[in-house]
Amino acid sequence: MASKKKPGTRAVVEKQRTIQREQDAKDRSKAKGKPRKSPMQAGHHEEPRNPLPQQHLRKPGIEAEMELRPRFRAPDYRGSGKLQGMTALITGGDSGIGRSVAVLFAREGADVAIVYLDEHEDAKETHKHVQNEGQRCLLIAGDVRDAAFCRKAVQKTVKTFGRLDLLVNNAAFQMHAAGIEDLSDERLELTLQTNIGGYFRMTRAALPHLKEGASIINTGSVTGLEGSGHLLDYASTKGAIHAFTKSLASNLLPKGIRVNAVAPGPVWTPLNPADQQPEQIAHFGEKTDMGRPAQPEELSPAYVFLAAPCCSSYITGIVLPVTGSVGAI
Ligand code: NAD
Repeated sequence: MASKKKPGTRAVVEKQRTIQREQDAKDRSKAKGKPRKSPMQAGHHEEPRNPLPQQHLRKPGIEAEMELRPRFRAPDYRGSGKLQGMTALITGGDSGIGRSVAVLFAREGADVAIVYLDEHEDAKETHKHVQNEGQRCLLIAGDVRDAAFCRKAVQKTVKTFGRLDLLVNNAAFQMHAAGIEDLSDERLELTLQTNIGGYFRMTRAALPHLKEGASIINTGSVTGLEGSGHLLDYASTKGAIHAFTKSLASNLLPKGIRVNAVAPGPVWTPLNPADQQPEQIAHFGEKTDMGRPAQPEELSPAYVFLAAPCCSSYITGIVLPVTGSVGAI
């Protein structure tokens, strides 16, 4: 049954159409002179933008050899004793995200032990910067796939600093592959045992020393949230790390130990120049909503937040995305 239009509805229709015409006109003029997408800079200083220098590093990737050095010092970040008197052990702490976390933990008053594979030059540089923050730094080279090494690394840390309060599981191996056929068992084992096996082993070694108020932070990845077609093995470990984080958080709740993860998007560190081809590196991070990769100093404050009881005593089992894109899941 056709209803008779109530008085006044004609006027509403006209009003809607006027708004539509106005918006259509605006859209048309915008489409003509579409501004080029420029990277978002929301910090106190401008971070490097694409194109980034093309380069390819030999594994495991030496930061000292990178053209355009990653920014890890976070010069705008002021410490206020949030981690005073604590000791942290950071795997993969010689370079990249781990290095910046080491520097900021030290700025907040923690002594830091760094576990790394064999990048001694990078490790020495991190050591220098932790000391410049007025804290002690212990360098421990070795393989997180090895349970005995993990135990020794923890023992050495506790012997040197007398305690362990913060564990940052962050070491990783990443190598792209076109498809699953390229992932031999040997390659699969290397990725799984480094990225998730190493997190289990280091946590098992650290746990006897962690007391109420201690915290574990795992580095996950946006690839663990969204998947990644050419990083089948790596992305799977990152998804596993997120599940490990939530499971361990439940498991350690009665002990008063918090467990959280940070899921970074693309970050300018040796990891990707030691994986992708030079021409891809030039455009690394461009596809994020912000249109550029992060620098390590844009990640490390998130680790301080999750480590410091004064900031996050009521937070456990979260995966905090720091991805440069809107509303990452
Ligand atoms: P990086 O190359 O600076 O750090 C990787 C570290 O892992 C190195 O310090 C290396 O010594 C260590 N490592 C590798 N294999 C090891 C082993 N078997 N035993 C001990 N140490 C080992 O790169 P990064 O980007 O700072 O990586 C840190 C973390 O961030 C990783 O977990 C990585 O998956 C994650 N992440 C990085 C990005 C990115 O775009 N850079 C994005 C998402 C997540």
